[in-house]
Amino acid sequence: MTTDPLPAASAETLEAEAAALDAADPLRAHRDAFVGAETSLVYFDGNSLGRPLRASIERLAAFTRDEWGGRLIRGWDESWMELPFRIGDAVGRAAIGAAPGQTVIGDSTTVLLYKLVRATFDAAVAADPARVEIVIDRDNFPTDRYLVEGIAAERGGRVRWIDVDLASGVTPDALRAAVGPQTAVVVLSHVAYRSGYLADAPALTRIAHDAGALTVWDLCHSAGSVPVESDAWGFDVAVGCTYKYLNGGPGSPAFAYVASHLQERLAQPIQGWMGAADVFAMGPQYRPAAGMRRFLSGTPPIVGMLAMQDTLALIEQVGIGALRSKSIRLTEFAVRVADRLLAPQGVEIASPRDPELRGGHVTLAHPQMRAVTARLWTRDVIPDYRDPGGLRIGLSPLSTSFSETLAGLRAVDAAVRAVARGGTG
Ligand SMILES: *Cc1c(COP(=O)(O)O)cnc(C)c1O
Repeated sequence: MTTDPLPAASAETLEAEAAALDAADPLRAHRDAFVGAETSLVYFDGNSLGRPLRASIERLAAFTRDEWGGRLIRGWDESWMELPFRIGDAVGRAAIGAAPGQTVIGDSTTVLLYKLVRATFDAAVAADPARVEIVIDRDNFPTDRYLVEGIAAERGGRVRWIDVDLASGVTPDALRAAVGPQTAVVVLSHVAYRSGYLADAPALTRIAHDAGALTVWDLCHSAGSVPVESDAWGFDVAVGCTYKYLNGGPGSPAFAYVASHLQERLAQPIQGWMGAADVFAMGPQYRPAAGMRRFLSGTPPIVGMLAMQDTLALIEQVGIGALRSKSIRLTEFAVRVADRLLAPQGVEIASPRDPELRGGHVTLAHPQMRAVTARLWTRDVIPDYRDPGGLRIGLSPLSTSFSETLAGLRAVDAAVRAVARGGTG
């Protein structure tokens, strides 16, 4: 826990502290590069759908006009066929510590996870038929849990569930107890969507590997928010969203990482023409392409890949280390303000208090948070709600200021009080 540098709470102290933190923030100028930064709206949901960069407005317009409108179908040969790989490599460089040739932009997170969990499961069983278990925690994101259940059912496998504390996540001890000679694949989120718990990915990967299992990491809440070193940490497979901290826009396609040494061993289940060895040979039978192309299925969603390039360029410019240190300052400030303003109303911190164990968001728990969230949305303060009683405060480091964070938490304070009084006004 951080020690509080300031004496007893007064309104001025917190406002002055937020202003001082903004003035000292080396990333503060970048906030103005986002659409809507000039308004008083408080955005606490950049971890669910990031704000667009202003540069993306012109990029999308220029694409429609010049590339789609101007080049028409010639665009595929001229650049679009290579775009999933070019932007994949940019994700690798900027956000997930992957050398080129291991990251591709593909389908939705759900579909990529399905394809790759199934492929890793099949590869593990092929190498050792005793490995029939997929290990996953009960508090992983619904899509991850649901598709793991489906894959186990269709492939004759079993799910081994890890129980976790909802305000925390999967610890090394918990994973050690779950894996063994029966484990095929371990599926884990790097940053837990509910609590923000930051898993020790290198340690957990080692534990899975020591048990002879493969790993699939879900990086949805980490890419663009916390440092990830896919190569150095020995990841096998990773998948992540691009519409959260990478600001790719609603439904922008996900990325997949597959370590070079594993690519040829994995056969994904949706054998489409875009993943075939010679796309335009249109041969009688499917033969998978070499490299990351084999994980594609159909025509890549090019329009959806446009906006993320602006954020990737910005992350490369400022560095993920600078983003992470601002993210830690933001979440520490939010925890400090919540302890002062909201704890007296019975609001609890449902996230790890140690910043080393926390990603880019903080969850505040109170039995009335569903009503509080609805009230905040009518007042242009936009967090989101997650059962049980969790208000998620997402603090996207490039687009969120300390003053915005404080204004939002003051609104939470007012909303909790109003809901407690049964007020509606
Ligand atoms: C947001 C999120 C997803 C979303 O999957 P989609 O297919 O993009 O809807 C998956 N997993 C985690 C951990 C997430 O946070």
